[in-house]
Amino acid sequence: MDYHVIVAGVGGMGSAAAWQLARRGQRVLGLERFDIPNTRGSSHGISRIIRLAYYEDTAYVPLLRRAYELWREAEAASGAELLVITGSLDASPEDDALFQGALASARLHDLPHEVLTGTEVNERFPGYRLPAGFRAIFQPQGGLVASERAIVTHVRLAQAKGADIRARERVVDWMANAGGEGVTVVTDKGRYRAARLVLTAGAWMNELAMPLRRIAVPERQVLAWLQPLRPDWFGRDRFPVFNLQVAEGRYYGFPVYEVPGFKFGRYHHQQETGAADTLLREPDAADEALLRTFGERYFPDGSGPTMALRACMFTNTPDEHFVLDHHPDHPQVVLASPCSGHGYKFCSVIGEILADLATGDGTTRHDIGFLRLDRRALAPAGQ
Ligand SMILES: Cc1cc2nc3c(=O)[nH]c(=O)nc-3n(C[C@H](O)[C@H](O)[C@H](O)COP(=O)(O)OP(=O)(O)OC[C@H]3O[C@@H](n4cnc5c(N)ncnc54)[C@H](O)[C@@H]3O)c2cc1C
Repeated sequence: MDYHVIVAGVGGMGSAAAWQLARRGQRVLGLERFDIPNTRGSSHGISRIIRLAYYEDTAYVPLLRRAYELWREAEAASGAELLVITGSLDASPEDDALFQGALASARLHDLPHEVLTGTEVNERFPGYRLPAGFRAIFQPQGGLVASERAIVTHVRLAQAKGADIRARERVVDWMANAGGEGVTVVTDKGRYRAARLVLTAGAWMNELAMPLRRIAVPERQVLAWLQPLRPDWFGRDRFPVFNLQVAEGRYYGFPVYEVPGFKFGRYHHQQETGAADTLLREPDAADEALLRTFGERYFPDGSGPTMALRACMFTNTPDEHFVLDHHPDHPQVVLASPCSGHGYKFCSVIGEILADLATGDGTTRHDIGFLRLDRRALAPAGQ
């Protein structure tokens, strides 16, 4: 074999997996079709929210605790700032699943938190202009991960442990070797043999992994950065990251960080799905208008001139939970399709889980039963 493990796709998840594998002494090849980092997939745009009061499902909280530890470990190993704590707000009408889900996670996992009204949020964090009757969970450990820097950091750490990382080399195909021993990976530059293969191709997973063909659906998203009119209200010490369910939809946002502008986006933006290579990469006037309308209503002092717009991709599963599993027909192949709009914060721990699944007996101590490929929610209709 040329390598112990090949990692196909060196973005958020692949870079973390490469480090976790290399630090265990595995001979790793990481293959990335674009640049490292790049602005073509799902991880660009400087930052991603991390939060513990997880409204999507309380089962993510133990994974999040380990994600925090591993982000700090990568910082200590590299000296790079990856995790910035700002506090997080999950706000909606009281009976909405967002507030109720965040509250359930906070209570079940005994997380430090405060329940605030919209008015109280607006008083404490003056950049916000929430409806008075809203309810919010403030969780002091929420914040952001510097997503592009984290990819570069994980790659550097992996390289320091001997990983062979190559950009601008596209995986065209892979096949299980005869007798089920390992895999052969074919790229636009060569062929490699390895004992195990980890597929972390983000929005292209449905092209590299047949079991995900109908399950992982790329969707176009757009991020906006608007220059605050009151910059002192939108700094990292004064403006918690947020998830907000309003009449216009579900939105998320960040303080000013690294580049000019208060940043935010709308989940499932304009509901544009399609093959990853066909989704429009350039934001347009309709994208800007949609986002500015939200900004001007709920963050009027944050919504000065537009500084930047960026298109990016979600990869949605039907239940919006990740897939972390072995390939059902080829146990030497591990699948990671962890987006559905909320995967980045988990990269550090998913890297560890992927390393577990791709080495030894392929088991992990982490509870990922709810993320397995054979769960009921992913079964074709009628089963
Ligand atoms: C606008 C936006 C906002 C988001 N906000 C948040 C947030 O606040 N918090 C959060 O936790 N998550 C968030 N997410 C989700 C999160 O960013 C994703 O879950 C995460 O980036 C997915 O990482 P990935 O490694 O799967 O994909 P990527 O980082 O895109 O990596 C996949 C890589 O595989 C490469 N690749 C594809 N095909 C091949 C091939 N054939 N050969 C070689 N390489 C290949 C791609 O070029 C790419 O670099 C957001 C996503 C978007 C788009």
